[in-house]
Amino acid sequence: MDIAQNIRNLKELVPEHVKIVAVSKTRTVDEIISAYQAGQKIFGENRVQELISKKDQLPADVEWHLVGHLQTNKVKTLIPHVKLIHSVDSFKLLAIIDKEAVKAGITINCLLQFHIAREETKSGFDFAGAEQMLNSDEFRSLNNVNICGVMGMATFTCNMNMVRNEFKTLRKYFNILRDSYFSNNPFFTEISMGMSGDFRIAVEEGSTIIRIGTLIFGERNQNDKN
Ligand SMILES: *Cc1c(COP(=O)(O)O)cnc(C)c1O
Repeated sequence: MDIAQNIRNLKELVPEHVKIVAVSKTRTVDEIISAYQAGQKIFGENRVQELISKKDQLPADVEWHLVGHLQTNKVKTLIPHVKLIHSVDSFKLLAIIDKEAVKAGITINCLLQFHIAREETKSGFDFAGAEQMLNSDEFRSLNNVNICGVMGMATFTCNMNMVRNEFKTLRKYFNILRDSYFSNNPFFTEISMGMSGDFRIAVEEGSTIIRIGTLIFGERNQNDKN
């Protein structure tokens, strides 16, 4: 597996304005260093402890993103280490992130994760639920979370029309939210969508951040539930 070559290939396939998050869950520190040496500076993990222990072993200019489901009891540990949380899927979680961020005296960048796939196992807001939150006084009272956009995962299917339509839906949600709720927020700019199997379609449909594991590092171990 030539990680440096994979990164070069990927960069040729996506426009420069699209950020690439190298999803390094289950990968070794050596593999991550290979990617770093090839110029990759943003890495995504889905487990808090794994993110922190890898961060300790990598240079300080690496940007760490959390891309997987975040349990509320891990928020306090995570937030000093993370540049962007992609996976805010409930108001309860957002409120706890805010509370811990206030205590720590920091502001945390977050994306609202939407449920756009057919699988029920994937989490996220539905559009009505997100609007309900955004219209609430409780939401308006949060001061230390910065909502930077949206995130979604398409259905795992070879029906690429379905995938494209799900990405179109996420893009539409982004546009409505930006115009209706975030028109005064210059940071509400990101649409995190697209993985190894569907990033080309995601980019065509307006993705600004793609999250790529397999295409950079190779197949993950089958026994690993990540
Ligand atoms: C694992 C993971 C990815 C990367 O998946 P690949 O198919 O290996 O590119 C992207 N996003 C999330 C949320 C993930 O958990």
